[in-house]
Amino acid sequence: MWTKIKTLLGAVLLLAALTGCAANPITGRSQLMLVSGQEAVASSYQAYSAMTTSLQQQSKINRDAAKVARIHAITGRLIPHALAYRGDAASWKWEVNVIDSPEVNAFCMAGGKMAIYSGFFDKMNPSDDELAQVMAHEIAHALSDHTREKMSMAMASDLGVQLLATGAGASAGQTQMAHALALYVIQMPNSRTAESEADRIGIELAARAGYNPAAAITLWQKMARQGNGPPEWLSTHPSHESRIAELSRLAPRVEPLYREARGKPQQNYRF
Ligand SMILES: [Zn+2]
Repeated sequence: MWTKIKTLLGAVLLLAALTGCAANPITGRSQLMLVSGQEAVASSYQAYSAMTTSLQQQSKINRDAAKVARIHAITGRLIPHALAYRGDAASWKWEVNVIDSPEVNAFCMAGGKMAIYSGFFDKMNPSDDELAQVMAHEIAHALSDHTREKMSMAMASDLGVQLLATGAGASAGQTQMAHALALYVIQMPNSRTAESEADRIGIELAARAGYNPAAAITLWQKMARQGNGPPEWLSTHPSHESRIAELSRLAPRVEPLYREARGKPQQNYRF
């Protein structure tokens, strides 16, 4: 019986996978999209809210006012430029928090829900330009629908089959399942293709907001000097060397955008 259900669900998901590809309007790349944009945003909001509430209860969020002020100022300057990449991002409820954890990590979920870990500040000692590069990279993941793509890929995998079969799909509806997927994909590394897209869009986005593209290179040089190999979330990321080489090629291309932006007053998103 179990095998039969699994085969049937597998066939349904395969069919959905075959029909669920869509060309991304920003990158032009065809992505597997089994979850709607609205669903990805709604479930990311639920997952983010559950996560921040739990962190708050453990007093592990926004404990250092100076770090919070810095990250608000920097992401606040990036967001108005992010809106130029996709109109619907204007309706996103953008938010950023500093999570107390030694990890060197940051993320931006579908719908603009962001976080950076205190370890990033403590271990990397980043300049504002370097912080802007990491947040622009994370924002680029959200703009390019990478959360939605990862949710879709998880749905088409054994995990999706299990979630459906254990009743999350049948009893609580697709929203419940999407919520579980959103929580799962925060931990799931991005593909190399997604990483290259986020590097390319991120360095350009940061330049448009007046942040130095050279900082993308120094950021990854610092990351390489961290020793211990890439952290878990970077496990499928390109090697530091190839990433630095690619960013060194991209930096001069966005340099004119950076120079132009520096001469102009910048808008700030109000959180
Ligand atoms: Zn990334």
